[in-house]
Amino acid sequence: MTQITNHMPTKELQALDAAHHMHPFTADADLAKKGARIITRAKGVYLTDSEGRQIMDGMAGLWCVNIGYGRKELAQVAARQMEELCYYNTFFQTSHVPAIALAAEIAKLAPGDLNHVFYAGSGSEANDTNIRLVRRYWEVKGQPERNIIISRWNGYHGSSMGSGSLGGMKPIHAQGGLPIPDIHHIGQPYWYGEGGNMSPEEFGLARARLLEEKIQELGPERVAAFIGEPIQGAGGVIIPPATYWPEIQRICDKFGILLIADEVITGFGRTGKWFGSEVFGIKPHIMTIAKGLSSGYAPIGGSIVCDEVADTVGGAGDFNHGYTYCGHPVAAAVALRNLELLQEESILDHVNNVAHPYLNERWKALEEHPLVGEACLIGLMGSIALTPDKATRAAFATEPGTVGLRCRERCFANNLVMRHVNDRMVIAPPLVITPEEIDVFIERATKSLDECYAGLKADGLL
Ligand code: PMP
Repeated sequence: MTQITNHMPTKELQALDAAHHMHPFTADADLAKKGARIITRAKGVYLTDSEGRQIMDGMAGLWCVNIGYGRKELAQVAARQMEELCYYNTFFQTSHVPAIALAAEIAKLAPGDLNHVFYAGSGSEANDTNIRLVRRYWEVKGQPERNIIISRWNGYHGSSMGSGSLGGMKPIHAQGGLPIPDIHHIGQPYWYGEGGNMSPEEFGLARARLLEEKIQELGPERVAAFIGEPIQGAGGVIIPPATYWPEIQRICDKFGILLIADEVITGFGRTGKWFGSEVFGIKPHIMTIAKGLSSGYAPIGGSIVCDEVADTVGGAGDFNHGYTYCGHPVAAAVALRNLELLQEESILDHVNNVAHPYLNERWKALEEHPLVGEACLIGLMGSIALTPDKATRAAFATEPGTVGLRCRERCFANNLVMRHVNDRMVIAPPLVITPEEIDVFIERATKSLDECYAGLKADGLL
């Protein structure tokens, strides 16, 4: 067999990649012409590529490597667990220690009576569980007609049939027959882009009240649940106005509908709290988790479920749902050790007392840049809006995303990963980032913005 290793020339790896590997959310034919960037190793907040470049990862992979790359403790736990019990299922009246211990730890960290964990392999799978779980809950309660779930346009909840339907991403809906029936969407609380002349507070209330209007339109007796990310991540790191979540909570309480907080990005320290719900005072019945649960070292996700929902569904015969890898012992052992390390090393304190305050000061200062309309940051997730006109918060005349993509390309050229969502640049660095690394981050980001600005001017786009 030919050995394909890190030591092969980049071009050969790219050719094999193009020949055999289909990439997520990618036009493979276009990528094949350029060749994929090949990442070979990573340590702390830095990636190394096959050309030997050191790239600062301002996105913690896909918002997941919260504890930073290259932690030996996690590799050792995985090896030990593979030797002891590499796999067993949790279906047929069996359990195992990693699944038990991790569920107990998650229940300890989660607020209120969110005491029960249904495992999945990813955030998408967990949200598919949530669709079935809330519908089953209302069926057991004798209200099977309550099967509608309401979510938001430009929310992201995954890309399977169910979770992609919950999300409000039109390009996803456009392919493959989504959304599935009985999922409805309302407008997002994106003041900067959609708030017009309203104050953020007025706009937050107005957008939350769309939920009440939607419930009235559909019939309150038909609505099972509302789902939202405390802070939209893939939608562009959209921090809702302070008035938004209290009003959503009031409306869910008033109509007795279940509230699902999708904490796949905001969970496990990203916002400086264990869960984003705690930042906004949200009291969900179910939380979706993944990503930071294992810091991306192993694929694992799940739903944290409150007593009432877990007891109701669990007390009514079999819940006919599950995945082969629910509570996978290696993934669960790694996740547990990750949660222990976050606590032993007081990483949330580092976020709150060191990394956030310093990054926030330097990030906000980017608002002085001629291309930046707003810069915002909660914990260590943030975004900047690129605009041709700060005063009016105007969008560019070009197709949305054109300028964001140009900026992202400049970031890559300067060895920094920042992602773009339309014309917003988003960041979510590993939670362990130091002030010295933040200096490098800002220096590279500023250089990239300067080059992007100069390029736009040169091309007559500004
Ligand atoms: N929910 C949210 C809020 C997410 O950000 C994501 C992934 N970006 C998902 C769900 C889906 O998770 P996964 O990609 O693990 O299926």
